[in-house]
Amino acid sequence: MSSICLKVKWSGSIYEIDADPGTTVSDFKNIIKDKTGVLPERQKLLNLKHKGKPASDDAKLEDLNLKPKMTIMMMGTREENLEEVLGPPPDVGDVIDDFDIGDEAEVELKDREEHLAKIQRRVKDYEVKKLNDPRPGKKLLVLDVDYTLFDHRSNAERAEELMRPYLHDFLAEAYKNYDIVIWSATSMRWIEVKMRELGVTTNANYKIAFFMDHGAMITVHTPAYGVVDTKPLGVIWGKYSDFYSSKNTIMFDDLRRNFLMNPQSGLKIRPFKNAHLNRGSDIELRQLSKYLNAITKLDDFSKLDHKKWERYLQKRGI
Ligand code: MG
Repeated sequence: MSSICLKVKWSGSIYEIDADPGTTVSDFKNIIKDKTGVLPERQKLLNLKHKGKPASDDAKLEDLNLKPKMTIMMMGTREENLEEVLGPPPDVGDVIDDFDIGDEAEVELKDREEHLAKIQRRVKDYEVKKLNDPRPGKKLLVLDVDYTLFDHRSNAERAEELMRPYLHDFLAEAYKNYDIVIWSATSMRWIEVKMRELGVTTNANYKIAFFMDHGAMITVHTPAYGVVDTKPLGVIWGKYSDFYSSKNTIMFDDLRRNFLMNPQSGLKIRPFKNAHLNRGSDIELRQLSKYLNAITKLDDFSKLDHKKWERYLQKRGI
């Protein structure tokens, strides 16, 4: 029987592993240990399931209904990292994910024919993962995941350790006036796993309207930076034109390039990195919660300059 090829994603890197179908989960964890240095007992393989439950150590890979090349998301910390918190390991493949553009790159790409045509195709063909219906009269908050709500590069035993402070309070407060969309440049599977691990999907105090993944993004050619991926809000505005437009939508992302097609609607959030060092002091979501509350009474967001969101609060003594 041929081997099963799996990928294990851990701490920002991807490790490819070929395993015999008869390999047990316990043996598989030992292979992962050889690749990553994380001891089996410290590994948490988030989406390695057997009949809906975490796979037990004696389960065989061939019984787990694994798809070829499936990526397993792992959390876990190397022994030597437990005492002292080290920075993330060197990245292998996704350095590009941290690349951002400068302010000056906000050139008029948003009106280009070829980009509008791509957005139209997404409006027609892309299926959001809908969790709850849009609520008439609510505004729209679109949130990135990595470095915005979650430090995806640090190591931890549990997802909550990497969660940005105030996340649940922030979402509960936002939900009063805004429908909430999670849009990550990763895959739908990751988004679902991460949101479940963080307790976002099941929190009783707010509901998420829908998830969107990289499939809803488009590539645009910028004169200064070449081809980049971006998140065009036009996909949402086209699919849900009865509810959302540039007048009632705001989007948070740590990468400005994701706003290229709708620069005015984007608010560049400070990235949440090195969670172990910063989770005691990061107040970005707490402050942004005040901003969302302050602007919610406006009929038209398109007059706002989100780059000055902190000044907006200061001026009003908030
Ligand atoms: Mg991000």
